[in-house]
Amino acid sequence: MKYVLVTGGVVSGLGKGVTASSIGVVLKACGLRVTCIKIDPYLNTDAGTMSPFEHGEVFVLDDGGEVDLDLGNYERFVDLTLTRDNNITTGKIYQSVLDKERRGDYLGKTVQVVPHITDAIKNWIESVSVIPVDGKEGPADVCVIELGGTVGDIESMPFIEALRQLSFQLVSCAFPGLWMLLYDGDVLFERQENFCLIHVSLIPVLGVVGEQKTKPTQHSVRELRALGLTPHLLACRSAQPLLENTKQKLSQFCHVAAGNILNIHDVPNIWHVPLLLRNQNAHHSILQQLNLLSIAMPPDLR
Ligand code: ADP
Repeated sequence: MKYVLVTGGVVSGLGKGVTASSIGVVLKACGLRVTCIKIDPYLNTDAGTMSPFEHGEVFVLDDGGEVDLDLGNYERFVDLTLTRDNNITTGKIYQSVLDKERRGDYLGKTVQVVPHITDAIKNWIESVSVIPVDGKEGPADVCVIELGGTVGDIESMPFIEALRQLSFQLVSCAFPGLWMLLYDGDVLFERQENFCLIHVSLIPVLGVVGEQKTKPTQHSVRELRALGLTPHLLACRSAQPLLENTKQKLSQFCHVAAGNILNIHDVPNIWHVPLLLRNQNAHHSILQQLNLLSIAMPPDLR
């Protein structure tokens, strides 16, 4: 299984859900089978008891699961039929760990956030990502995971740690028993082929200065790195299209190739977002990161 993780920085409500759904669309257009998981770091078991005034629409799945509205976006954009397990919440994870603890499954061990909660998160992701949700048999090729909230929030820390461990495991799985170190100039780096991290961030414009500001994104990428995750692509949300020098600055200071810096500016209709990604060759960057270029490509680019 290959994973595309979508995280968010700077502020909430940036459009991570729309970005994750649109990534699903462009990957599907490349001939890949896609599934989606939404992680909500709140303690509610599901969105069913949350006020729509505070939280927005509660989306009801075919299996009766009352979930975050982003799952509605995934179903509509990528044409999937998801299950309630495709929405992970802190409440669900803690409930499963506490049920196991009461049953004595931990055999007298001290039950802790690390490793027990983080292991439960990894196991949940790995088992749900192989459930077919597109009406075909067998697991999908790529699982798009959206981490709700903003990087640096206290409540999302166990999820970030679990995802960090998962990305590390995926490197080891890709090359069992072998650490692949590539020499690129004077930088030695591990080759990750099953994990692509896309960080959605805000590029504000200060009214008086009228300049696109990259510093909030630089700080959120630094925060992500401090937690052990390195973004492969940046999806920059801005009111107007990104200027070339803003892109260069982001590339230089965030250590992301300029070709992997995507711009998702405000559009009148969110159905334009997959086209925005396609026009910037987002699929090419993601497929390259996941080492899928040889088997997946949209028909017009073959
Ligand atoms: P998040 O998942 O980060 O909380 P959502 O994906 O739910 O954010 O999007 C928040 C709001 O922003 C939604 O109303 C969505 O329609 C809108 N939105 C997202 N991306 C864009 C865009 N590129 N242009 C205009 N509106 C957008």
